[in-house]
Amino acid sequence: MRIVQARDGGLARLRLAGGELHAHAAHAVAHAAVRCGSGVIELTNRANLQLRGIRADAHAELVDLALNAGLGPQAEGGDDLRNVMLSPLASDATRGLAAAIVTAMQSDAALHALSPKFALQVDGGERLAMLDHPHDLWLSALDDGARYAFGFAGSMPHRMNDSPALGSIARERVVDFVLAALRAFVALASNDEHRMRDLLARIGVTRFLAMLSFDPIDTAWRRAPVNDALRLGAHPMPDGAHGYVGAQTQLGRLDAATLDALADLASTHAQGRLLMTPWQGVLVPGVMPRHAEHVLDRMNALGLITRADHPLARLIACAGSSGCAKSRADTKADAHRLAALLPVHDDVHLSGCERSCAAAHPVANTLIAVSPGRYDLYVDARLVAPNVSIEEAAAWLARSHADA
Ligand code: SF4
Repeated sequence: MRIVQARDGGLARLRLAGGELHAHAAHAVAHAAVRCGSGVIELTNRANLQLRGIRADAHAELVDLALNAGLGPQAEGGDDLRNVMLSPLASDATRGLAAAIVTAMQSDAALHALSPKFALQVDGGERLAMLDHPHDLWLSALDDGARYAFGFAGSMPHRMNDSPALGSIARERVVDFVLAALRAFVALASNDEHRMRDLLARIGVTRFLAMLSFDPIDTAWRRAPVNDALRLGAHPMPDGAHGYVGAQTQLGRLDAATLDALADLASTHAQGRLLMTPWQGVLVPGVMPRHAEHVLDRMNALGLITRADHPLARLIACAGSSGCAKSRADTKADAHRLAALLPVHDDVHLSGCERSCAAAHPVANTLIAVSPGRYDLYVDARLVAPNVSIEEAAAWLARSHADA
């Protein structure tokens, strides 16, 4: 487990397989968060968990608690190789393929040299999926999963101007293909090339592809549209017999008592598991239709966001000055102030510095802190209002909508 030092103590990342957390493991995480740290639990934009404020004398105990809950890697040194993102509603077949990829990667010691940020996505074509995050390698199901389109250093094509898929692979060859691609990356990358985009910028994709074998794909292929509103509220599941209830945390954080309550809810009214989402949210899957309203009410009562028109449903903020020494402002507190002022429900990202840890892809409206309570406002990566207060930023966004 990777534990790094932050302003508020150790920051421990718990990687989840496809965002899945069984109720017993959720209780163990809640217990560990309080026993070893500050009790603050963060949901990441890759559907993993982070525990904050870990005491220096509690690292070993935290690792033991995580391993006993079944949250550790299969191989020593393999923790970072579990960076494979799925749809929260991925089928058993897609989860099985992702698990086979992760197992094969962890078994190959040469791949342990990959950067912890090296990221893969396996997509089954679900209606609820995050398509905007770029990945070093992505795979997307074609022909009912008989084949997988793939690409490197980007996101799968779903907008008109996106780069097309590079090719496709039969499902039974996917694991070998991924291993071949990653071994080629490790063999070719220089010491300062940590991500696929770094290597391809130097050698070009044609040379890289020459080391792999694959079939061409129709360049007009586009990933089927998604509906990210399905991450919130009660909806049917693909099996037709059950539903799920989805919610978002407020600015990516839960406390231990809320995680315990979610685990209890999943045990008593669903199938005993939770699914974290790349929107820093959680789904309770396997809810019988007659229980859906009760589960929804309980999640609302826990302070989770279940409606897209909630002001915090489209706001993200990094740890800010309470958790990160680099931050020039208390982004979390400022985001709460902004939520109360936003006249429309824009996507807005507040960042304490230029590193933009909270956003895995560019957000239309971004506030970069310049000093406590003051930010540069960027719209579509263009600086439109320098050094503004939260109130001035909200007013600027309101005016831009009125003028549109
Ligand atoms: S974006 Fe900057 S200030 Fe915010 S958590 Fe990351 S490094 Fe810290």
